[in-house]
Amino acid sequence: TEEEHTAHGPKGRSYFESVGGNVEAKIALENALALDPRKRKALSKFGLAPPVGILLYGPPGCGKTLLAKAVAKLLKAPPSDSSAPSLGGTFISLSSSDIVRAEIGTSEKMVASTFEFADKNAPAVIFLDEFQALFTERSRGGSGKLSTTLLQCLDDIKRWQRVDNFVQENGNMANEQNNIDEQPSNRVIVLAATNTPWMIDSAFLRPGRFDRIVHVGLPKPNERESILRVHIGRMKVEGGADMMEKVCRKLAEATEGFSGADLEALCRSAAVRALMDIDEDPNHIELTERHFEKALGQDVHASSDA
Ligand code: ATP
Repeated sequence: TEEEHTAHGPKGRSYFESVGGNVEAKIALENALALDPRKRKALSKFGLAPPVGILLYGPPGCGKTLLAKAVAKLLKAPPSDSSAPSLGGTFISLSSSDIVRAEIGTSEKMVASTFEFADKNAPAVIFLDEFQALFTERSRGGSGKLSTTLLQCLDDIKRWQRVDNFVQENGNMANEQNNIDEQPSNRVIVLAATNTPWMIDSAFLRPGRFDRIVHVGLPKPNERESILRVHIGRMKVEGGADMMEKVCRKLAEATEGFSGADLEALCRSAAVRALMDIDEDPNHIELTERHFEKALGQDVHASSDA
């Protein structure tokens, strides 16, 4: 179950906690990226480095961006003398359609400087949203310079990391006793996201490029419950934790086909309803099960009208 499965960052902290559900994607990312430092170490003993590029695909609003941000957090250990939570690795989000729309000649520079920035600020995640947009007329046209630049950047990152790993491995020989969780990681991971994977040029999916593909799909009923728990947990429902659990369970059953973003919108809509009640009775401000039911009733009504 998801409760049993939580990715643990340094010192046992869970960094996937703001992402409800997406259980299969979380497991796939942890395994593919060897997020557990012990596994990474084992991998390097076999002379292997974890992959650099992963393609996330699935319908809009199902958590691709959230997962990418969570991976960035997982990359950096907190200072060993502090119990303060780590700020995590650098997260750089780049919309592929923005790159493609940039002035001719500047898009390649945008890509190259992003990769350089990530390398200087490693550990880092580069998140390439709307990845299929890189394969429009213009990016394909001419010599496909933009695609070539991106492929070159991916190869460079891999080369740099191999050098870093080597230095780290040897530099850390004397510190073999150190807690492995505290060792720095200079990784740069590129997570590309798309709703239309079939539009991706196969040149990008070859081994050593975006050769791992992770599906981030619509949540199952128990996953909807987890997502609702993330959002409703922040809202303070009247009746406390028991009531919150009840609301999450009931809503999860009634929201077949909802994405994470739809569920978040539903929770917002319930909050707006609670605010509207303030006009009637300013002394009585509370968010109750009824507000969620009303919000849901409206959503259902709206979609059956459409
Ligand atoms: P797009 O393809 O449109 O870019 P996406 O898959 O990247 O979508 P996100 O940006 O991660 O989707 O999700 C949008 C919002 O929906 C999030 O900010 C979050 O509030 C909510 N959401 C989506 N999935 C989840 C989830 N698994 N857990 C909690 N909240 C979620």
